[in-house]
Amino acid sequence: MTTSDEFTAISEPQRQAMRADLEEQLHRREVQLRDLRAAVDGGNDDTARLALLADVAATERAVAELCKALERVEEGNYGRCADCTAVIPFGRLKIRPMARYCIACQRRHEAR
Ligand SMILES: [Zn+2]
Repeated sequence: MTTSDEFTAISEPQRQAMRADLEEQLHRREVQLRDLRAAVDGGNDDTARLALLADVAATERAVAELCKALERVEEGNYGRCADCTAVIPFGRLKIRPMARYCIACQRRHEAR
């Protein structure tokens, strides 16, 4: 490797690989969500139901995040900061595939 993933923008093959990865994650989450919803419908214990409903909500959020990330791949905005449009380095996307902001903007958002 001559280039550093820490600083370089995502390349087209990397983008395709991320897309495949995101699609796979989305598929897994959708299956999980279906199972969870079936379990909620089948359950009668309130405590278990509440725990399952929390899982459903968390999984729904994950599905929404994955859909948004895939939309950004389709639109060609994936790997660009949603705030300042700076390049999000591939090194960061590998760790956080759904990152929408560059590190500087992410820090600003978290500080709010
Ligand atoms: Zn930014």
